[in-house]
Amino acid sequence: MHRYQMLIGATWVEAEGGGGLLSYDPYTREAWAEIPDAAPSDVDAAVSAARDALRGWKGLIPRQRATLLRRIADAIERSVDKLAELESRDNGKLLRECRAQVAGLPDRYRYFAGAAETLHGEVLAIDKPGYFNYTVPEPVGVVAIIVPWNSPLQLLSYKLAPALAAGCTVVVKPSEEASATILEFARLSAEILPPGVLNVVTGRGATAGTALVGHPGIAKISFTGGVATARAIAHSAADNLVPAVFELGGKSPNIVFEDADLDEARVGVLAGIFAAAGQTCIAGSRLLVADAISDRFLAGLAERVRTIRLGDPADPRTEMGPLCFPAHLERVDRMVQEALEAGARVVTGGRRADMPGREDHLFYEPTILTGVRPEQPIARQEVFGPVLSVLTFSTEAEAIAIANDSNFGLAAGIWTRDVRRAHRVAAQLDVGTVWINTYRVTSYASPFGGVRQSGYGRENGLEGLREFVATKSVWVETAGQQRDPFRVG
Ligand code: NAD
Repeated sequence: MHRYQMLIGATWVEAEGGGGLLSYDPYTREAWAEIPDAAPSDVDAAVSAARDALRGWKGLIPRQRATLLRRIADAIERSVDKLAELESRDNGKLLRECRAQVAGLPDRYRYFAGAAETLHGEVLAIDKPGYFNYTVPEPVGVVAIIVPWNSPLQLLSYKLAPALAAGCTVVVKPSEEASATILEFARLSAEILPPGVLNVVTGRGATAGTALVGHPGIAKISFTGGVATARAIAHSAADNLVPAVFELGGKSPNIVFEDADLDEARVGVLAGIFAAAGQTCIAGSRLLVADAISDRFLAGLAERVRTIRLGDPADPRTEMGPLCFPAHLERVDRMVQEALEAGARVVTGGRRADMPGREDHLFYEPTILTGVRPEQPIARQEVFGPVLSVLTFSTEAEAIAIANDSNFGLAAGIWTRDVRRAHRVAAQLDVGTVWINTYRVTSYASPFGGVRQSGYGRENGLEGLREFVATKSVWVETAGQQRDPFRVG
């Protein structure tokens, strides 16, 4: 069993009191690691370390910060296999999915290294003579980063690369379900970054997470996770008047019009909901399909879904791995059973998978449900599992109305050969990202985020960098004519 420590300042430490949490491999169900269960005093120490490091880090010229970000990129590149194996073991996602995610990270750090070097203020055309006014982009300060278990290292990097580029120091609280890759990444980074720039405290949301977001020493919260947690964090942020970025869940519609290339659309719908066993925020968990083609489209889709191969996440032939932990599996199944009781019908799946000899497994059958009405919970709430709810529509306007009838607004897919329709519909969808004849594609250069209960703020691209920048305005009197306050006007 591997026992991890946390990184606070320059030191690897146990939690105060020595408490730990076990990490289980979702495939073998064996406990394979123990992580510290941080106490509020550990969080306090981490925030202090980040505050102590802030002056030095923001005082570096951008070129120096960029050089260190590029060295982090190189270090990840040398460790892709190791990090991917750890993450797959920790959260049960397919090894090849983890490898692809980790392999994409170095360029993200390089992009934000470039952004650090090109970030600059402006000289402004002000409306007053005798003054010179310019802006300076400054780091907001110490950032609290909290991420979930489904893609720990990637979601951390969405936040960390721009935060470091902007000159912020950070305290990270990974998910108690999957902390290993972030701790391993911290080990690589600790050899590159000055002490205290990156601190990692592991443990429970209710203790370490709450202590971190409520700490008076932090200047910004960057959170990825569920809506209920975000709401609690938003209250705490309000108490301290600390701004936050929230990347939350979704109930994203994948809309297939009758003129779509149906083979392509099937692949997109499949990838949208069954990749990573549906445990992604951008899961296309609502299929909106035109009445005229729904039977044909679904028959082909179901045929493929029935052949999805469940198994060992490390086996290259496996197409879907287990869900991450038992309570999550139970929740997914409960939502499906409640949908069936409310009138939904199973096309395929709808239950825990059969795995002879493995009674304790965490596999759920890839599931397609029809007969779903837009007002049912299964059409409105995030399942975060391999469950596709099918709704049908007869007109474009109806498709848009159903798509927008959601508390969420993270992403949407549109499948059509009609270019006018594609743009017309994209313009009317209330979401942060629209994919036309594709699904799931993202880039570190393209802003990502949601509207409504999918969150606020943006990650990626220069907008993502701006989240960590506070603009300072500097005024210089140039005319040598101080204005007597009692004689103005
Ligand atoms: P979660 O909200 O339960 O936990 C996320 C993190 O918050 C964990 O590290 C947890 O320890 C911490 N936490 C819990 N309670 C806290 C509190 N009171 N104060 C501070 N921190 C606290 O979410 P999860 O189950 O780990 O992840 C799944 C959710 O994440 C889904 O809703 C999914 O859609 C969302 N997600 C969103 C994105 C995105 O970019 N929009 C990406 C991936 C996942």
